[in-house]
Amino acid sequence: MIRVNENYLKLQSSYLFSEIGKRMAEFQKKNPQAKIIRMGIGDVTLPLPRVCLDAFHKAVDEMGDAATFKGYGPDLGYDFLREAVAKHDFQAHGADINADEVIISDGAKCDSANIQELFASDITIAVPDPVYPVYVDSNVMAGRTGSYSNGRYGKLVYLESTEKNNFIPNLPEGKVDLIYLCFPNNPTGATITKDALKKWVDYARENKALIIYDAAYVQFIRDTSLPQSIFEIPGSREVAIEMRSYSKTAGFTGTRCAYTVIPRDCKIWTNKGEKTSLHGLWNRRQTTKFNGVSYPVQRAAAAIYTPEGQKEIREISDYYLGNAALIRKAFTALGYKCTGGENSPYIWLDTGMDSWEFFDKMLAEANVVITPGAGFGKCGEGFIRVSAFNQRENVEKALERIKAALVKK
Ligand code: PLP
Repeated sequence: MIRVNENYLKLQSSYLFSEIGKRMAEFQKKNPQAKIIRMGIGDVTLPLPRVCLDAFHKAVDEMGDAATFKGYGPDLGYDFLREAVAKHDFQAHGADINADEVIISDGAKCDSANIQELFASDITIAVPDPVYPVYVDSNVMAGRTGSYSNGRYGKLVYLESTEKNNFIPNLPEGKVDLIYLCFPNNPTGATITKDALKKWVDYARENKALIIYDAAYVQFIRDTSLPQSIFEIPGSREVAIEMRSYSKTAGFTGTRCAYTVIPRDCKIWTNKGEKTSLHGLWNRRQTTKFNGVSYPVQRAAAAIYTPEGQKEIREISDYYLGNAALIRKAFTALGYKCTGGENSPYIWLDTGMDSWEFFDKMLAEANVVITPGAGFGKCGEGFIRVSAFNQRENVEKALERIKAALVKK
């Protein structure tokens, strides 16, 4: 008899974005004339940078010529991309990372979900609250979280990010083994300073813990005092890994390319207390379960490291940050407290009411979809996340409508 992995039954059924989709579809059915503007799901709207497109086309042509055709590529990524990443994303920022520590993949979502396979089933895991849901759900599927009750899984340690701590969680009170951190944060838009990040690195070193640092939104950092990478923090190489994605950096949400950095000195312990290499284990996992990212996609990604590519991705992120500034300004003028939107494409704001109620109100009265904070965890209750990934005219139109709806009452 084929039996189910019971852990899957512990997952909360209405994944945030499917519930949003459902409510949106119901509203649209009842109001077919309504022109809904989506400021909810964090997908990009601008096309690929020109340099990426040119590199993509050229690489596709290479695939059509026997002299330049490529079959299976290296499982961990082509050297041309790994080398460009190490040099531009890390060494240029004073982070000591080598090309062979960069492992190319088809998404930070898959990497952040798959990496937990390498860890024992009885470790203690700390996740932010509010949280990017993949960190939690992938551990639920693996059976590490216990069951769900009252908005939380029994065995997880929740790192609360609230107005009180400026959305930077405090260190756990007890000992945890695995910590997920994400800065600039999804959903709160909060950023972390080097001093604050150092406290996490020190904690991990003292407790033989590992930090999974998700820097998917690093491209939006403009404040040069903020760390771009956890590897700018001394001592981090032994206790941290970092994930990055080209999705938001260069519009690759549909093209798919990302990477995980695992330093060679990052260690993990066996039951007998012996040290083993996390890099080696991830290498083993990827070579067994993954056959690499396509050659044209990796060529397209590598193009962003040319001077023209750097200019283009800067212009793209400036455009979204321009949207973020408008959103922040509009909500602040309406009297709402906002986090994020500076050094981040997300604006997190306190609605002063139930987040789904605010969602429904915005949908009904402004025909605008925003993301209810409650979908990201208990601490998100009462908040909403507004995304700056949109066309400028849509942002302006949406803000006009929101203003009219909120001022009316
Ligand atoms: N990490 C965070 C924090 C995200 O918000 C997202 C996308 O929304 C991802 C990872 C996924 O990135 P990718 O498109 O590379 O899978």
